[in-house]
Amino acid sequence: MSKRLEGKTIVITGASSGIGRSTAIEFARTSPKNLKLILTARRLDTLKEVATEITKEAGSGVKVLPVKLDVSKPEEIKGFVQELPEEFRDIDVLVNNAGLVKGVAQAPSIAEDDINLMFATNVTGLINMTQAILPIFKSRGPSGAGDIINIGSIAGREPYQGGSIYCATKAAVRSFTDALRRELIATRIRVMEIDPGQVETEFSIVRFYGDVEKAKKVYEGCEPLTPDDVAEVVVFMAGRRENVVVADTLIFPNHQA
Ligand code: NDP
Repeated sequence: MSKRLEGKTIVITGASSGIGRSTAIEFARTSPKNLKLILTARRLDTLKEVATEITKEAGSGVKVLPVKLDVSKPEEIKGFVQELPEEFRDIDVLVNNAGLVKGVAQAPSIAEDDINLMFATNVTGLINMTQAILPIFKSRGPSGAGDIINIGSIAGREPYQGGSIYCATKAAVRSFTDALRRELIATRIRVMEIDPGQVETEFSIVRFYGDVEKAKKVYEGCEPLTPDDVAEVVVFMAGRRENVVVADTLIFPNHQA
């Protein structure tokens, strides 16, 4: 149990599955006292299921608010904070997790719609969420306070063939995170990033446009991380005392080393 996270309000994007879902569950499991979780994604029904699961496990100390939010749509992010019930508006931690990859193809043949969707979700969505939440952090006294944890990827550091656009989006996340951390260096606002390697989630099903068989093949002969492996590190980062910044964390399964 982490006392430091007691009473915090945490917003997680892409909380309907995979790493985001596991992160929500892990926050609730480790800090069940007066925690407020705002779970966002496009699939509201799935978010509601996650919320029910958390409330059942963690008990009444955790309040969970599922919110339908498409981060690729700036107009939805604009009203996001203002439309939250008042008791959920004082956000302490933003986990920018929503993201996707579409297709595996050489750069010249990647469809324009897929390029736009990857950038709008993984990059612009993450930036817009950050801009929406930062004023709350900055309003907390002269030094501000709050945590931003961005989910990047090993792909942002080690580009691979067939993933040029996805890799470019995650390299952009990495640059944005680094620059923002420097801009906020004299404040109590922490900007952190975790870059996972291979994690078995719905990610690959989305990558192959819903083809479950193709997605399964990705994990044949290897043991990927579980979303819980990543979630534990996210919660660890948020739970450090405020002078400690776990800025930049690479986590991957042993076979990927
Ligand atoms: P999942 O597909 O399981 O989860 C992705 C989440 O993002 C879902 O909850 C999805 O919810 C949400 N999402 C997608 N597009 C949008 C959107 N436009 N607006 C709001 N939410 C959206 O995959 P992971 O858990 O694996 O992915 C989470 C993050 O981890 C991503 O940023 C991914 O790039 C990163 N990552 C994943 C790795 C892996 O191997 N799995 C490796 C490295 C990084 P919904 O469909 O309901 O909107």
